[in-house]
Amino acid sequence: MNLKAISGQRRQFLRHAGTTLALASTATLAGCARQAMVPNAKPTVLPRAARLESGVAELAPVRAQVDRITGIYVCTRPFRAAGPRLELEKLGDKAIVHNYGHGGSGWSLSWGSSTLAVRMAQATGVRELGIIGCGALGLTSALLAQRAGMAVRIYAKALPPDVFSMRASGLWTPDSRICDAQHAEDFGDRWESMARTSYGMYQSLLGLPGDPIEWIDGYHLLDTPAGQQNDTVSDEPEYGDLSSRIRDLRPQSVTLPVGSTPFPQASRRFTTMMFNITSYTRMLMSDFQLAGGKIVVREFTHPRELQALPERTLINATGYGARALFSDESIIPVRGQTARLIPQAEVNYALSTSTLSMVPRRDGLLVQVIGDTGNFNNSDLTPNRAASEAAVRQLAEVMATMRGT
Ligand SMILES: Cc1cc2nc3c(=O)[nH]c(=O)nc-3n(C[C@H](O)[C@H](O)[C@H](O)COP(=O)(O)OP(=O)(O)OC[C@H]3O[C@@H](n4cnc5c(N)ncnc54)[C@H](O)[C@@H]3O)c2cc1C
Repeated sequence: MNLKAISGQRRQFLRHAGTTLALASTATLAGCARQAMVPNAKPTVLPRAARLESGVAELAPVRAQVDRITGIYVCTRPFRAAGPRLELEKLGDKAIVHNYGHGGSGWSLSWGSSTLAVRMAQATGVRELGIIGCGALGLTSALLAQRAGMAVRIYAKALPPDVFSMRASGLWTPDSRICDAQHAEDFGDRWESMARTSYGMYQSLLGLPGDPIEWIDGYHLLDTPAGQQNDTVSDEPEYGDLSSRIRDLRPQSVTLPVGSTPFPQASRRFTTMMFNITSYTRMLMSDFQLAGGKIVVREFTHPRELQALPERTLINATGYGARALFSDESIIPVRGQTARLIPQAEVNYALSTSTLSMVPRRDGLLVQVIGDTGNFNNSDLTPNRAASEAAVRQLAEVMATMRGT
């Protein structure tokens, strides 16, 4: 099923749910009269949405079954303790603006980080710009440079869908593994500017065909379901917590007591932006090409190869690839793995416990183990199927506790 169809089906579900609720209340009001007029009519079986008492969130269950896994994806977050590298370097005849190392926040910060990178490129006075890399940072740099009036060519060894950015979860997580705690203060102002610019740009991308960006609710279950306790001690550094700087931007989370959701425990409801990465990336690629952007598939194995390119100024958006290309050992790979379940248009909420998370993307429900160890400084891209299957089974246990299932 294509995205348009999924999106249409979901809208239809929501519309249907709305109509059902409206009809249900009318039916309750009119019920006596109708029964009196048609005494032998069968009692109306109200749909579940109408049977739940008011104030209880209506959430469709996830079909969490290992035979619904459509793929398992692994990638490495390009983490730098000091935060992303965003600076101009002169290399032979070229001015190179580095724009890499965004850890677990590459999509979230992309527009803000690339705004700063493009400004640096503009300051070199060129009208033609080369961009190395076609992930989240390369594409946003390219589009912003075009909007600033430059002619842009992207060079990349791989294009979407074969870039790490396509394997992200797709949530607005601007301070996820973005720097370590020691560097948070130094990086704070720049981070805030990136986060605010990106947030603003994402607001202008809501409501578009295919829903590349949308707001969703999520529920974090406060009491871990029985048998799913997480006793692991993190082997990752203490990361910078910068979120209080943008507290005014996003809706605040709310604690929901037992009885407010179909889950048996209390939860915290959060509201977040979600990136439907498949349709979003496709939109970025086609916007770039429609504006006359050119793409060259090419791998560079040494920075001196960049000297042969026709553009005098380049933006380096090679993500984790910068570690090898620019011998930048400050980039640490932080491995991450997600399993994708067949999409369910009616599942429109995120869910997390202390051991797993589920993100309701249109191209598949993403299930990820969280709080596990062995990922920091791990560049192994081999999928661990057993771990993903265990996470899906845990999700099934959570679903089995839902009221109404
Ligand atoms: C499991 C997981 C979940 C995540 N979830 C989120 C999330 O919810 N929200 C969020 O904001 N971020 C998330 N991230 C982080 C996000 O995925 C990254 O920060 C982001 O993808 C980095 O983008 P990039 O453009 O720098 O790199 P990439 O996507 O890796 O793109 C690099 C580009 O450079 C090219 N390239 C590399 N080396 C060379 C070379 N030598 N020559 C030519 N071309 C080269 C590549 O082919 C590619 O085109 C997640 C990461 C993981 C692992």
